[in-house]
Amino acid sequence: MQFRDLIKQYEALKSEIDHALLTAVASGHYIMGKEVTELEHRLVDYVGAKHCITCANGTDALTLALKVWQIGPGDAVFVPDFTFIATAEVVSLEGATPVFVDVDSRSFNICTESLEKAIQHTLSEGKLTPKAIIAVDLFGLPANYPAISEIAKKYQLWVLEDGAQGFGGAIGQQKACSFGDISTTSFFPAKPLGCYGDGGAVFTDNDEWADHIRSLKVHGKGTDKYDNVRIGLNSRLDTLQAAILLSKFEAFKNEELDQVNQIASLYTQRLSTLYTTPWIPDGYYSSWAQYTLIMETNDQRNKLQHYLKGHGIPTMVYYPKPMHAQTAYAHLNYTAAQNPVSHSLSQTVLSLPMHPYLTEEEVNRVCDKILEFDR
Ligand SMILES: *Cc1c(COP(=O)(O)O)cnc(C)c1O
Repeated sequence: MQFRDLIKQYEALKSEIDHALLTAVASGHYIMGKEVTELEHRLVDYVGAKHCITCANGTDALTLALKVWQIGPGDAVFVPDFTFIATAEVVSLEGATPVFVDVDSRSFNICTESLEKAIQHTLSEGKLTPKAIIAVDLFGLPANYPAISEIAKKYQLWVLEDGAQGFGGAIGQQKACSFGDISTTSFFPAKPLGCYGDGGAVFTDNDEWADHIRSLKVHGKGTDKYDNVRIGLNSRLDTLQAAILLSKFEAFKNEELDQVNQIASLYTQRLSTLYTTPWIPDGYYSSWAQYTLIMETNDQRNKLQHYLKGHGIPTMVYYPKPMHAQTAYAHLNYTAAQNPVSHSLSQTVLSLPMHPYLTEEEVNRVCDKILEFDR
């Protein structure tokens, strides 16, 4: 059994993917081929944003947003403490300071009470200027955007939705990657919609920002590539990756999202009496980048992981260290007590095999072994 079986997906979609790849290769347009534009149109329609700008990866997508907002030294950007390093790293790379906010113990996403406290604390200290909030749709579940937007409005901050894990999720009828002033996603192979290499996208309704990002991602181009009006990046999505994404997109929308939701329901149905299973608030829809249990203790988590491994069942710890505990951020001098939920989750979470091509039998085998495990 694989934790996330990308080969099984390839085998299921082989004829579409092979055809798309060969067509793209034969076309000779390896950079900015027509597949890239077509993909952007399809993603805009799906997400319900006005603009989609594809780019080289999900980290660059975040960077492009921060660059458009000219975030830099002296600025504070509020980031959930419990996330993948990219969310925080991009802030530091622009010379700004990430402020690590604790997360909600049930949703794993940024805690809006802690967020408001962190903003007030930053303001009262007077050293940094609050500029933006990066909310992450962790494990596929959209963050609490109704509450986040209200706080952003109150303190006049921009909202950047890091939807790297959240593509395909929704709150009511509104799709993930449409909640931020700018939203981003990643097409890294293991994300909900993955390509066969690196890829990413930026979404926004703002025409001016969209133009600016289209320029930034191609060396700050003006009227053409050899007219450079600003300092930019080389951050294009390859034609081949766009072709792969186009060939996977129908199955993603029409089948895979349903399949991961059914698998999640089965896990929850079988495990929730004994363990803390993921919480999906009313009206929220997850794209299930991960299915994550919360165990009682670190020891129990580690023993269960070991036990499952012995039975050929792969699991992962996302994430073993919150941002504040990373060596790269030791200079910010956070303590575990400042963000107790993030600390505690890093000790107790365990993510189970999750992908659209897991069979019911496989899910049941994972559950049988977990229920057999002597706590
Ligand atoms: C994967 C990920 C990213 C970065 O995406 P890449 O395409 O790998 O650069 C950013 N934020 C989160 C939360 C992620 O999980």
